Amino acid sequence: MSQKSTAPTDAVFAEDTFLEGDDLHEECGIFGAYAPGADVARMTFFGLFALQHRGQESAGIAVSRADGELPLAVHRHMGLVSQAFEEEDLGRLKGDLAIGHTRYSTTGSSNIENASPFLAWSSLGEIAVAHNGNLTNADRLRAELEQEGERFLASTDSEIVARLIAAAHGDTIVDKLRRVMPRMLGAYSLTIMTPTEVVGVRDPLGVRPLCLGRLPDGGNVLASESCALTTVGATLIRDIEPGEIVLIDGIGADGVRSYVGQESERHAACVFELIYLARPDSAIGGQRLHLARQRMGEELAREAPAEADIVIAAPDSATPAALGYARESGIPYTEALMKNRYIGRTFIQPDQRLRERGVGLKFNALPEALRGQRVVLVEDSIVRGTTSRPLIELLRKNGATEVHMRVHSPPMMWPCYLGVDTGRRGELIAANKSVEEICEYIGADSLAYLSEDGLTRALDIPKSEFCFACFNGNYPVSVQMEFDKLALENPRQLPLRADMAVVGG
Ligand code: AMP
Repeated sequence: MSQKSTAPTDAVFAEDTFLEGDDLHEECGIFGAYAPGADVARMTFFGLFALQHRGQESAGIAVSRADGELPLAVHRHMGLVSQAFEEEDLGRLKGDLAIGHTRYSTTGSSNIENASPFLAWSSLGEIAVAHNGNLTNADRLRAELEQEGERFLASTDSEIVARLIAAAHGDTIVDKLRRVMPRMLGAYSLTIMTPTEVVGVRDPLGVRPLCLGRLPDGGNVLASESCALTTVGATLIRDIEPGEIVLIDGIGADGVRSYVGQESERHAACVFELIYLARPDSAIGGQRLHLARQRMGEELAREAPAEADIVIAAPDSATPAALGYARESGIPYTEALMKNRYIGRTFIQPDQRLRERGVGLKFNALPEALRGQRVVLVEDSIVRGTTSRPLIELLRKNGATEVHMRVHSPPMMWPCYLGVDTGRRGELIAANKSVEEICEYIGADSLAYLSEDGLTRALDIPKSEFCFACFNGNYPVSVQMEFDKLALENPRQLPLRADMAVVGG
C-alpha cells in the first residue's frame, strides 16, 4: 500500500482525456441461435442488446433457413445495436438460424467494411462468421491467403478467420475447422453459420468466453456471456470448452453435437473478463461474476485495510467489489457517485467551458454522502490513470476529507494482445510509475491493489486455467511483435518496439 506524499504531481498523462476513458474499450460480443419457427433475427437483436457493453461501434446479424433453400441474408450497420437495426431490417431477416456480432475494434479501424458478421463462399455454400478475440499471427495468415489468390475487403482479423475457414478443405464444417484451428494463433471465440447449421468454437486456450443455452420451446443459443442467454429466455447449459466445436443443427438428442477441434494442455481464460469486462450477472466457469467480484473486494479489504467512514464504488463496474470490501471491513457501503452511462458514446465534443467541467461531465457526486467523510474508493482497475485522478478531485470538492483508493486487480503493466484494447505499454501507468508515484499522481491519500495471490484466492477456478498476462507479462502465446491495432491496414509497417514483450509458451 502506498501513502500520499505532499510533493506536486507531474502530469505526464493527459488530464483532458476524460471522455476517452471510453477510449479503452472492451472487445466484441457474439451470438448464435438455432430455433426453427422462432423469429431468430429478433432474438439475436436482443441477445446482442445484452452484449452491448462488449462493443459499441457496429452491429450485424446474418440469418439462414434450416432447409438451406434461401440465400443467407445479412444486415450490418455502424453504431449501437439499437441504432443499427430498424423494424424493417429485422422483418427482412427471415430464417431459422442466425448469428450476430457487436463490435469494438481491437484490429482494424471503425468502419462499415470491418463490421461483422463476415460472409465468405465455401464448398458448403455461403458461410457467415462472428469473431471475438485477436489472432496474433493475423498478418502472416493474411499474406498466405493473399498468395493463394484471396482478396481482402476489410482490415480486421475477423475477415481472415472467415476466409480461412471458407477456403479450408473438408467435407463438413467440422473438418474445415479442425484443419484451420492449428493455424490460427491467439484468441478466437466464434459463432459460424453455414446454410443449415450454427456452430460455436473456442480457441484451445479458451481465452474469450462462449456459452451454450437452451430455449424453452426447443432450439439452442450461443453467446459470449450468459447474460444474453437470460435476456432471450434461454437456460445456460454450459461453457463451450477450450478447443471445442459445437454443431447445432437440430440433429441428435438435444440438437447439439460436440467435437474436439484442437486439444491443448494449457488453458488461459482472460482473468480480466472476471474482473471487469463481462457483466456481473453473467456466469463464467460456473461462477456468477457478481459474487466473484464481491470476493475480490473481501480479499482486498483483508490485504489493504483502511481507516475510513464509508466505502464507495467507482460506478458501475466496481460496485460488487465495493460491497465485498464493506462487508469484510465493517465500514458501511454507500452510493456517492452517479455515472452518466451514455456520455462515452457521444461524438459531440464539449466546448471549452464544458471541457473545464472535466470528469463532471460523466460523473456527479452526492455532497450529502461525502461531506466530512473519510472515503474508501473501490475501483476495478487503473489502466492509463485518466479516470482516477479527476474522480478523486471530484470527491474532495464534494467534501471528502480523505480518499483511500483500493483497486480489485493487480497493477496492469502489460498490453493485451488477445482481444482487449488496453493501449501500449508506454500508456499503462503502472508500467511507468511505482505504486507510490501513481498514488501521488492520482491525488489519493493511499493506494493499494489486490495482489495476484489475492485475486487467485477470490477465483473459484485454479490459476493455471487463466491468463494473467496484463498483470505479469506471461503471455500464453508467443508474442513476437508489438501488435498494432491498425497493423492489418499497413502490414509492412509493423513497429518493433524496445518495450515489446517476447514471451514464449
Ligand atoms: P483509466 O482511466 O485509463 O485508468 O482506465 C480505468 C477505468 O476504465 C476504470 O474505471 C475501468 O473500469 C475502465 N476500464 C478498464 N479497462 C477497460 C477497457 N478495456 N475498456 C473500457 N474501460 C475500461
